[in-house]
Amino acid sequence: MGTITKQEEIIFRSKLPDIYIPKHLPLHSYCFENISKFSSRPCLIDGSTDEVYTYKDVELTSRKVGSGLSKLGINQGDTIMLLLPNSPHFVFAFLGASYIGAVSTMANPFFTPAEVLKQVKASNAKLIITQACYVDKVRDFAQENGITVVCIDSTPPEGCHHFSELTSADERDIPAVKIHPEDVVALPYSSGTTGLPKGVMLTHKGLVTSVAQQVDGENPNLYIHMEDVMLCVMPLFHIYSLNSVLLCGLRVGASILIMKKFDIVPFLELIQKYKVTIGPFVPPIVLAIAKSPVVDKYDLSSVRTVMSGAAPLGRELEDAVRIKFPSAKLGQGYGMTEAGPVLAMCLAFAKEPLEIKSGACGTVVRNAEMKIVDTETGISLGRNQAGEICIRGDQIMKGYLNDPESTEKTIDKEGWLHTGDIGFIDADDELFIVDRLKEIIKYKGFQVAPAELEAILLNHPSISDAAVVPMKDEAAGEVPVAFVVRSNGSAISEDEIKQFVSKQVIFYKRINRVFFIDAVPKSPSGKILRKDLRARLAAGV
Ligand code: AMP
Repeated sequence: MGTITKQEEIIFRSKLPDIYIPKHLPLHSYCFENISKFSSRPCLIDGSTDEVYTYKDVELTSRKVGSGLSKLGINQGDTIMLLLPNSPHFVFAFLGASYIGAVSTMANPFFTPAEVLKQVKASNAKLIITQACYVDKVRDFAQENGITVVCIDSTPPEGCHHFSELTSADERDIPAVKIHPEDVVALPYSSGTTGLPKGVMLTHKGLVTSVAQQVDGENPNLYIHMEDVMLCVMPLFHIYSLNSVLLCGLRVGASILIMKKFDIVPFLELIQKYKVTIGPFVPPIVLAIAKSPVVDKYDLSSVRTVMSGAAPLGRELEDAVRIKFPSAKLGQGYGMTEAGPVLAMCLAFAKEPLEIKSGACGTVVRNAEMKIVDTETGISLGRNQAGEICIRGDQIMKGYLNDPESTEKTIDKEGWLHTGDIGFIDADDELFIVDRLKEIIKYKGFQVAPAELEAILLNHPSISDAAVVPMKDEAAGEVPVAFVVRSNGSAISEDEIKQFVSKQVIFYKRINRVFFIDAVPKSPSGKILRKDLRARLAAGV
């Protein structure tokens, strides 16, 4: 990473040369550009059924699904929702939508009905692909609003279409659409640096650029090869898995082993059975591997790369997991949904590994610029000085859906995306994240937006004010805790508050502890002084 001074700014770039990126290609064309080299190789392996789909199968089925979606009334620019756990159907639906210029918004199937519907409404989804067990979350709203529901189960509930209607459509009927590189293809939801979850508009050009930054070009960061078997255990509805596992895997022709959900024993069995070579994980999975005694019963020697991302990985944990995978390289990637998502990745994955330090979360990707700015003055800082990490490049989001104000707060006029993460770049170009300026709480890599929980708490008549902040937790990384001001005369208890919230949110957003206070500390402009509350937690409250 050479340092250059431009308009008095200190900008860091990858020390690997920039590469050619075919940004004009729609995402699906880019992913399958080299398919002739590996068309009969396994592309998707369904870990729960052992079913294997070759590249040829996946490409053809995706086109059929595109054709089927258009038969069900989905046009270019329309949005469909994928309310699914990891499964081949997820992949076919995402790529099928891409073929016809439609947008996929992804939601956690464990969301409560209220959480799902919020996203259905905000994204204006016209069709929802889900499983029978989740249909009740959307059925009434879908019926009232003319939203089509497609189920992947063999017997779909009444009123739902079956996924086979999509896969049996004639691919030759796929509408001829002209996709512009700036068209949106994925719409994950993220709260970003502040407030409620918002639709993050990721374009064809953005995702093509991001995948290319990770796997294209001669040697550089190339850490996935055609011969690799990548374990896809992190949820595809999170952009980390969708981009860095699925799309990167497709681009290079690797085999993607799909696992529905993480459970240590089936996880180890799958690694052993399919001789997994690449394990893209999140810190809680790394923790489980490091701590579980059953790990030693399995042969994990096939694994040559373990990658951790989406949340901080402590040095001790990093060192502990190295012992379990002695023949593997271990490194971190640093991502943020709005950044496309990958900002930095570990160069130890390159063919000729460079020395990496534990705790580092990589070096900036190619074809991008990074700067570290002073949070008070906005002035860019040099090496070893901590400040807010900013990134610029074609991979970042186009903006938040229908929210120009939040977009402007996140991407400045010069095109810099402000991450809300505090970090520094050392003398060897490695990026270290040391703190978080923004509000989000990361539970096992999942986002919890304090604003969402605060809004729920403030709805309770016995609560006059509330603030939610992260508390460190060994298993989850962080858990949300609430500081609550009771209304006059109220004696509401911690348990009552916890139950009130639990009913309305997915499991990982549940309030772990409640601390009663007299007043929520706020700045003169009314902003919650979260740092003060975090300091109180650190001091034992
Ligand atoms: P998300 O948009 O859900 O991917 O969350 C992005 C946020 O997760 C980042 O802005 C960071 O705060 C955090 N994060 C992601 N990767 C790392 C990492 N390797 N180390 C520390 N924090 C991370």
